[in-house]
Amino acid sequence: RRLALAEERHLPAETLDRHRIVLRANVATPAEARAALTTGAEGVGLLRTELPFLSHPAWPTREQHAATLLPVLRVLTGRVVTARTLDFADDKLPPFLARLQGARIGRGLPLMLAQPDAFADQFRSLLSAGADTDLRIMIPMVASVDELRACRRLLEAAATEAGVPMPPLGIMMELPEAVAAADDLAREASFFSIGSNDLTCQILDLDRRDPTAAPAMAAHPAVLDAIARVVTAAHRHDRQVSVCGDAAAHPLVTPLLIGLGCDSLSVGPAALDEVRARIRRLRHDTCASLAAVALTRESPEEVWRLVEQCCPPSL
Ligand code: PEP
Ligand code: MG
Repeated sequence: RRLALAEERHLPAETLDRHRIVLRANVATPAEARAALTTGAEGVGLLRTELPFLSHPAWPTREQHAATLLPVLRVLTGRVVTARTLDFADDKLPPFLARLQGARIGRGLPLMLAQPDAFADQFRSLLSAGADTDLRIMIPMVASVDELRACRRLLEAAATEAGVPMPPLGIMMELPEAVAAADDLAREASFFSIGSNDLTCQILDLDRRDPTAAPAMAAHPAVLDAIARVVTAAHRHDRQVSVCGDAAAHPLVTPLLIGLGCDSLSVGPAALDEVRARIRRLRHDTCASLAAVALTRESPEEVWRLVEQCCPPSL
């Protein structure tokens, strides 16, 4: 069956009623980047940049950024690369930050903005290492327009200093505060990418390390409602919305995301063939009605049943 799916790699990720979805890959290493291209990804929707530094003793220098970025980005010459800036968090905490635990340093984006020199070094390294790619910069854990503006100032300064054009600057939508501010954020961000892993946990008050926080929980009507708001705000301002959390590849959630109007999905290279095949066997109009009904339900179980009835996951 895997072989049969691989035969569809040259075909577009398009529904039966010809609604096109941009299908990209989540990668962190050169091997994953090569696998993404082999499986027909239209570039990278999420490059995780913090993973090489999780056992690092100090903030990475420009040289250390370059050493980890260049091997991945060389594979992706000429391709769309959505590079996410360092996203240290409870489940991804290097020793130099673990030591500071308890001190009021903040996490995620506030932590980066409190270290503007370290943040600027990553922007400089990305602009230089990504010069031969179609580079987009993505900020994780954004909660407010002020944070986005602070990131923009740092990135603009780095671009001016390097004498290169300012790349598109987008944000991850993975905090309820961002969903509440979606309209203002859409005015100033170049694109949105929904981090369904964090967004689901945040909305449903689940722990990321808890196995019940599985990607299928993104089918909870409260999460779907947040995604619908994000899509509406983005499209009002002509911005594209991607989903780069694991829910994008879950057979019971993919049809809901498409039905809610998400423009793009980004999934691990190993899931690309399956997700493309799933999309090619769906109808967009069916997905849209499905999503509308799902929003009126009370529990994820009810929504899973609905999806099974109207878009059976078997390929
Ligand atoms: C997410 O939160 O959905 C996401 C893609 O980012 P990460 O899993 O790295 O937190
Ligand atoms: Mg996240």
